[in-house]
Amino acid sequence: MKIQSLLQCSLSLLLLQLPPVAPARAQEPRFKVAAFYSTTGEMDHINFARDALYFFNLISEQQQFTFDATRDWTNLNDDYLANYDLIIWLNDFPHSDEQREAFERYVNHGGGWFGCHVSAFNLPDSKWKWFNTFLGGAFFHSNNWPPLPAKVIVEDRNHPVTKRLPETYVSPTGEWYQWKPSPRESKDVKVLMSLAPENYPLGVKSRIQNGDTPVVWTNTKYKMLYMNMGHSNKIFSNSDQNNMITDAVLWLVGATRKEVTK
Ligand code: ZN
Repeated sequence: MKIQSLLQCSLSLLLLQLPPVAPARAQEPRFKVAAFYSTTGEMDHINFARDALYFFNLISEQQQFTFDATRDWTNLNDDYLANYDLIIWLNDFPHSDEQREAFERYVNHGGGWFGCHVSAFNLPDSKWKWFNTFLGGAFFHSNNWPPLPAKVIVEDRNHPVTKRLPETYVSPTGEWYQWKPSPRESKDVKVLMSLAPENYPLGVKSRIQNGDTPVVWTNTKYKMLYMNMGHSNKIFSNSDQNNMITDAVLWLVGATRKEVTK
């Protein structure tokens, strides 16, 4: 037997005799988040969901929370939702009364909701009246087309969600929705961000001509936040906005931010 082989053999025996090393203790997740999404529909909405899953997975490690995602909207039921502190709708919404009612029970009992872009799309003839009230009374009114970047005004930089944002910034390419009535008209709504007037008219084929266009707001009666961003594969290309999305998750569950060290 060659010396090298003997050494390897001895080393193997030595390792076998060592007491087992306790595995590094994984840090306990601080809270649990589940994202619901769809892979059908507009390609820009599907791209956003794909990017969002990558992003939320990344920050779940940094901010120490469990992040799950499902395309199965029948998971919008009491048993599944009971596992989570926060539900995110990336690019779709419930499709049955059972799912809608389970969601209502979830938020009425203190569950958190983070809605993105098309997940809040609703029209005056929508049958789900509760959801419209939950949003602050906002119905979809108009949009810009093609998708465009837009300057946004941060209306309250003391709020935990927007405290790391500048006064204004250019939000990446998106399809922006204007709402009628504006959610600002609800006494329960706190608007955090809106389109800057100098964007108008915004669009070519379809335009948002003028007026008030909140893009991030919360209905203060619930643990909820809606952000209009969510159309295109550019949404996560702005680090300030990424901070806002991270801070939104933490605020909705009442958690503090952990410094990212790597
Ligand atoms: Zn869209």
